[in-house]
Amino acid sequence: MSVCEFTPSRCHVNLAALRRNFARLGEAARLMPVVKADAYGHGLLPVARTLAGAGARRFAVGLVDEGRALREAGFDQQIVPLLGQLTPDDWQRARALDIMPLLACADDVARAAALADTARPWRVVLKFDSGMGRLGFAPDDVPALLDALRAAPSLRPALAVSHLAAADTPEESPYTLDQLARFTAMTDAVRAVYPEMERSLGNSAGTLAWPETRFEVCRPGYAIYGGNPLAGTSWAGKGQSLEWAMSLSAPVIQIRRLAKGQSISYGRIFTAPRDMRVAVLGCGYANAVPRALSNALPLRLHGRRAPQVGRVCMGMMMADITALDDVRPGDRAWLLGGPDGPDAPVTPDDWAAPLETIAYEILCLVGMTNPRVYDEN
Ligand SMILES: *Cc1c(COP(=O)(O)O)cnc(C)c1O
Repeated sequence: MSVCEFTPSRCHVNLAALRRNFARLGEAARLMPVVKADAYGHGLLPVARTLAGAGARRFAVGLVDEGRALREAGFDQQIVPLLGQLTPDDWQRARALDIMPLLACADDVARAAALADTARPWRVVLKFDSGMGRLGFAPDDVPALLDALRAAPSLRPALAVSHLAAADTPEESPYTLDQLARFTAMTDAVRAVYPEMERSLGNSAGTLAWPETRFEVCRPGYAIYGGNPLAGTSWAGKGQSLEWAMSLSAPVIQIRRLAKGQSISYGRIFTAPRDMRVAVLGCGYANAVPRALSNALPLRLHGRRAPQVGRVCMGMMMADITALDDVRPGDRAWLLGGPDGPDAPVTPDDWAAPLETIAYEILCLVGMTNPRVYDEN
């Protein structure tokens, strides 16, 4: 989508890793992979192609527009827009392209009913709020929802969805169980009238840690891209085998000497404690490398960790290569992932933890600000 083209850095996406992660999460027909936000920054169409090749029969997008991009590329899977239909155009397009509209309030039911007719019924998705406090029908809304659906025979409730707020947090287990109970009660009431309606509750954390949230359809996003939502918790082992699909590389532009006492980059936050060699790399905060990690950003060159030094600039940054004598201009530094080497690859979690954020954010930003290249193996 809106990838910055003017940078020598590259976001590498390993499609085989996506395929393996998808297979680890269960039977393809029962998964609805989440490809919102340009597939978490990995690129909607290449990711959808890979997952369709691995048997995906459904996709959860964010916007109807993303669903339209899938239809225009020839995908015939079930498509659900998780943000709903935001404009009159969205409603028209969803209808025209057989995208299953998300019905999250009484108004949505009325709008969908106005577009459908009994000669050509419309399969719709009912969104329930079981405790996320975001979109959807609450338990109290269910009787009126059933009345509205009875009055709209052209609508076929095909799937019920709800979203877990804290399935990745072992201490919040009672809350997750409450959500499960509320979702079960609401969908039982609807399924008494529409027994063929499928149910989908589990996100990545639910799919990995809560078998009871799987119902007919699971809706993982993050885990497909290799993120373990349970990392850092006592349940981390449940997502251990997932592999990151995204890597980030940047070329060495120049190698220079830094004499003891010389400072480097903006603000002079790094002064050479001894004579040093540094490599200047073509990547910076314009490419989602967090400036807040200046002087503390791990990266690898030739499979070895090399400390980043000085402030991260807009399109450049420096690394201390005093301990590596074989680095040349044109070599690639790996800010995330990269080929195996003596030192472990840097992961999106390594960036996220000191920033007190989650790797979801890192993936989206890196993927949207670096040209993407795809690796099939
Ligand atoms: C993003 C999202 C998901 C996927 O969540 P992950 O934690 O990435 O697995 C599932 N359902 C809804 C409604 C979402 O917004």
